[in-house]
Amino acid sequence: MSIDQARNGLRFAVIGAGMAGILAAIRLNQAGERFTLYEKADGLGGTWRENRYPGLTCDVPAHAYTYSFEPYAEWRAFYAKGAEIQTYFERTAEKYGIMPHVRFGAEVVSCVWNESQACWHLGLSSGESTSADVVIAASGVLHHPKMPDIEGLDDFAGTILHSARWRDDVPLDDARVGVVGNGSTGVQIITALHSRAARLVHFQRSPQWIMPVPQFDYSEEEREAFRRDPALIDAIRNNQDYWDSIYRFTQAITDTHGPEIAAIEQLCLDNLENSVRDPALREKLRPDYRAACKRLIYSWCYYDAVQQSNVAVERERIVRVEPEGVRLADGRLQPLDTLILATGFHADRFIRPTRVTGRNGLSLDDAWSVRPTAYYAVTIPGFPNFFMLNGPTGPVGNFSLIDIAERQWAYIDQLLDLLRRGDAETVEPSAQAHAAYEARRIAAAQTTIFGSGCSSWYLDKTGVPASWPWSYQAFAEAMAAPVMADYVLGASTEAAE
Ligand code: NAP
Repeated sequence: MSIDQARNGLRFAVIGAGMAGILAAIRLNQAGERFTLYEKADGLGGTWRENRYPGLTCDVPAHAYTYSFEPYAEWRAFYAKGAEIQTYFERTAEKYGIMPHVRFGAEVVSCVWNESQACWHLGLSSGESTSADVVIAASGVLHHPKMPDIEGLDDFAGTILHSARWRDDVPLDDARVGVVGNGSTGVQIITALHSRAARLVHFQRSPQWIMPVPQFDYSEEEREAFRRDPALIDAIRNNQDYWDSIYRFTQAITDTHGPEIAAIEQLCLDNLENSVRDPALREKLRPDYRAACKRLIYSWCYYDAVQQSNVAVERERIVRVEPEGVRLADGRLQPLDTLILATGFHADRFIRPTRVTGRNGLSLDDAWSVRPTAYYAVTIPGFPNFFMLNGPTGPVGNFSLIDIAERQWAYIDQLLDLLRRGDAETVEPSAQAHAAYEARRIAAAQTTIFGSGCSSWYLDKTGVPASWPWSYQAFAEAMAAPVMADYVLGASTEAAE
């Protein structure tokens, strides 16, 4: 990129048209930038387009799971269903005029930094190539379904599918249905299917902590009031109790012996004691690890669902899948017509398998050979003008990732200003700053609740929690202003001459 290019505007490539990519596109559009949003699928929405399983609901209050600049009066309930959220993203993308910039069916398979031209060369699966001065990687985290390592999956005579690859022809009504997996997905599926299946078996390798939360519908009158007076929506979004609960939650995660985590554990245990009548079932459902070590389940109806007469909780180890059903370690067979694998995702992929190659031929696979990492979850040394939204080491937990992405965008935008003004041709974090950040982060992560001795997608392959290990407020402060001294600015070649 030359100074002239800087004056004429940078060329941006945004990869992924989910929540974060739509956000980036809207912000770039508002700033009058030249950009293309590449999406490999034929629609936007990311995780909300991909996940269509029965019961799909966002466990963040709907009015908080919206862009700050686009409140939505139409939510039908306190916790919104997946299809509604998908509609929200589609409407918002239309309203903010980004659709002409979106290329669907355009999978970016490679991103290669060109040193002499100081830009990224992108290869698409179609064989096309293009270039961009700046890449925004917004390709999501929970995107690559993880199949369980259970023998015999291919032998099953009925219908078997992963929760993130839903099909409308799955036999559910009056069928014998098994659900493997007890994360947020498996729990939500159970709550939706007990009234449809003839028999429903929830295979649980680990029981879960279930946080009781209220769910209620918004009436048409309430929606009309929201339409007339958006301040009512703001009052919900900015409700101090809601924010305090998030601050307490991140405090609980980071202080494993503090009163906040004790309060969460007590609430969940009271929920178990008060909701589950049968003592044997109660014991089956009792977790034997710390609350919030795995992602906490927020549910208003799971314990009701598993107490229905057609529902069984199965804690016996699965030995294999056979044509007729699931064989257990004690020799029993659970006969099934349909087997749903709610077994999660490969959470360490991020933008991969796109081949990303930075300075001096450094591949992202090599840079991430130990673990995926990014300086403050956003930038990577050796990968100039490459920015991640919801990238590795960012905050994860029971709060809105939209708020996280918006704060990350505010941070990125300040770095982009350096390029826009022509102050620099490239920007990337220094290797030293990044190493210091990772050392501090890893030390802190090991003392969080995520590292307290359970297995979860929060852990990297070395067993270190992969996420932001400090408070929400610390994240907000970090994103408010980049520490510019930690960044290496490459001068424009023309400026240097
Ligand atoms: P997950 O949390 O990774 O849960 C996977 C489940 O599959 C676990 O219960 C795991 O058991 C089980 N499992 C994996 N392999 C197995 C095997 N071989 N045999 C038996 N059980 C096996 O996946 P998820 O439920 O899809 O959720 C992933 C994330 O998506 C959530 O944590 C959340 O961040 C997001 N999500 C959010 C919402 C929302 O409402 N906002 C809804 C759905 C999902 P173990 O625990 O024993 O490993």
